Amino acid sequence: MNYKNYDMFNEAKSKCRDCYVGKTYNKVVLSDGNTTDPKVLICGECPGADEISQGKPFVGKAGKLLRSTLNKYGFRKTNSLITNTIPCRPEGNKFPKEDDLVKTCVEKWLMQEIELTSPQYVLLIGSTPLKYVLKLNGGITANRGKWFYLFSEPEDDATMYMPTYHPSYVLRKMYMAEGKQILESFEKDIENVAITAGIK
Ligand code: URA
Repeated sequence: MNYKNYDMFNEAKSKCRDCYVGKTYNKVVLSDGNTTDPKVLICGECPGADEISQGKPFVGKAGKLLRSTLNKYGFRKTNSLITNTIPCRPEGNKFPKEDDLVKTCVEKWLMQEIELTSPQYVLLIGSTPLKYVLKLNGGITANRGKWFYLFSEPEDDATMYMPTYHPSYVLRKMYMAEGKQILESFEKDIENVAITAGIK
């Protein structure tokens, strides 16, 4: 379905019951930031308990790391929009496993959101959007920090996508031998998007 404006899109999204997650969720977490002309759209996996209780994406521990890094490189509510591959969460925090459910969610909400807001750049956070948006199974370490187009013959103004590590992974690795390098790569990717988008 095509929406005339973002408010209509949000209204429909907040009422979604199209899969089993939608039948048991307690809240759809709507996107946060500039919904009219974001330079960069930032897309995570799905909300956690903190996001459900506050009704905002990326507000828990991992979210704080992501938001402080974004802020360090010039991302603001006025130039970017934060969203998720899946906007809700089932009771018991069970992430949907069936590929086609995620695909429905991506096609129905995320791709519509990208079409409606037409960001020039999309920062993909972690392996879930890597798999379901770029359709890449190669793993985040092999693909992070690179630019991708959705189509093999992109138009001149086509949206460019860059995957990076999920902040939860960065936090999990923080005190391991490779932790420093993973954090540096995460920061470097976000800085790279900021420089390319002209916001740093
Ligand atoms: N992790 C995500 O991928 N998204 C959120 O909104 C919070 C945590």
